[in-house]
Amino acid sequence: MSIARSFFRDEHEAFRASVRRFIEDEVLPHHEAWEEAQIVPRQVWRRAGELGLLCPNLPEEFGGMGVDWLFNVVVIEEMAKAGVTGPGSGFMVHSEMAAPYILTGGSDALKREWLPRMARGEAIGALAITEPGAGSDAKAIRARAVRDGDDYVINGQKTYISNGQNADLFIVACKTDPDAGARGVSLILVDANTPGVERGRNLKKIGLKAQDTSEIFFSDVRVPVANRLGTEGGGFAMMMTKLAQERLTQAVRSICVAEVSIEQTVSYTSERKAFGHSIADFQNTQFTLAQLSAETTALRVFTDWCIGRFLDGALTPVEAAKAKLLVTDLHCKVVDQCLQFFGGYGYMLEYPIARAYTDARITRIAGGAAEVMKQIIGRDLFNQKN
Ligand SMILES: Cc1cc2nc3c(=O)[nH]c(=O)nc-3n(C[C@H](O)[C@H](O)[C@H](O)COP(=O)(O)OP(=O)(O)OC[C@H]3O[C@@H](n4cnc5c(N)ncnc54)[C@H](O)[C@@H]3O)c2cc1C
Repeated sequence: MSIARSFFRDEHEAFRASVRRFIEDEVLPHHEAWEEAQIVPRQVWRRAGELGLLCPNLPEEFGGMGVDWLFNVVVIEEMAKAGVTGPGSGFMVHSEMAAPYILTGGSDALKREWLPRMARGEAIGALAITEPGAGSDAKAIRARAVRDGDDYVINGQKTYISNGQNADLFIVACKTDPDAGARGVSLILVDANTPGVERGRNLKKIGLKAQDTSEIFFSDVRVPVANRLGTEGGGFAMMMTKLAQERLTQAVRSICVAEVSIEQTVSYTSERKAFGHSIADFQNTQFTLAQLSAETTALRVFTDWCIGRFLDGALTPVEAAKAKLLVTDLHCKVVDQCLQFFGGYGYMLEYPIARAYTDARITRIAGGAAEVMKQIIGRDLFNQKN
C-alpha cells in the first residue's frame, strides 16, 4: 500500500529514525500510565525539546532548528503511526497551533521571551478559543478584553482546552469590541501564572486519554497590551489562516492512522482462523480492505499534495477544509471497519485498533466540525463571504 513520497530527503529520514527511537524507548513503555493519569509528564516535554521534536521549523534565532515544515510532519506522522495520542496531540497543539500565532503575530520581544522556551519544552503552549457557549461559531465568543492604559483586563471562560493542565501560556481569543462581530476578536498571549487565571477540571474523555483537556477561567486577568498577537480586531482573520494549518495537520495524522490500521488488520486477519480458514480468506475481508486501501491511497496523494501546497505557502483554507473533511471521515470509517475484523479483541483496549477507534471520533469535531468544513467549501463554491 505504501506509495513513493518524493519530498522527504535523507535528513528527514534520519530525523524520523530519532523520533521513532524516542517513541519506542521513552513514550510507548509509559503511555498507558499517562492515559490513567490523563496527562503527559512535563519531563517528557523537556526531553522532546532536547531532541528537537517541538516546533522544529522555528527559526534558529527563536530557538528552533530552522528547518522546513517537513520535520514537523515527521513528528506528527510517527506519533500517529505509533498511536501515542498523548504527546501526539499535545505536541501538535503546541507546535502547530500555539507557536505559529506567536511567530506570526507576536512582537520581537514576545517571540524571544516564549519561543525558545517552547522549543526546549520548558514552556508548554495552548490555544484557547472555544467557550461553553461558542465552539463552531467562534465569532460568538464572550470572553472580554477591556483596555485599561497599557493593559488589557480579561474576563471569561474557555473549555476543552488541550494542554490545559500543563500549559504555561494560553493564546486567548477575546472580544476587544463586542459590537464588531468577527472584527471585534483579538488574540492575546496570557502567561498561565498571571493572577486571575484558574484551571478547571482535567476533563474525562472517551479517547485521547493521555492528553490533558481543561476548562480555563479568567477573572480580571491583567495582561500588557504588548501581549496582543497581531492587530486589535485582527484575531478572527488570523485564526482563519492558522486554522488551515491545524486542519492540514489533522489530515496528516488521520491518513497515517488509516494506513497503519489497514496494515494491522491485514496482519491480524491473516493469522486468525474461523470455519477452517483465515479471516483474510473471506472475500468480504479482502473486498472491504481493498476498498479502504484504495480510498486511503487516493487521500494519501491528496494529503501529500496539500503538504506541498503548504510548503509553498499556497494552501488555501478551502483546500485545508477539504482535506480535513475527507481524511477524518475516512479515518473514522477505516478504524470502525478494521475493528470489526478483530472481533472481540478489537473491543479490548490492549489492542491498538481499539484505542485508534476511540481516539478517532474527535477528528470530525475538533478544529472545526465536518459540517463547518462543508460550510467553508460551500461558501467558496457559491462565492459567498463568511
Ligand atoms: C478533545 C477536544 C480537544 C479540543 N481542543 C481545543 C483546544 O485546544 N482549543 C480550543 O479552542 N478548542 C478545542 N476544542 C473545541 C473544539 O474545537 C470544538 O468542540 C469544536 O469547534 C465544535 O464546537 P462545539 O463543541 O461547541 O460544538 P457546536 O458548535 O455546538 O456544534 C455541535 C454540532 O453542531 C453541528 N454544527 C455546528 N455548526 C454547524 C453548521 N454551520 N452547519 C451545520 N451543522 C453545524 C455539528 O454537527 C457540530 O458537531 C477541543 C474539543 C475537544 C472535544
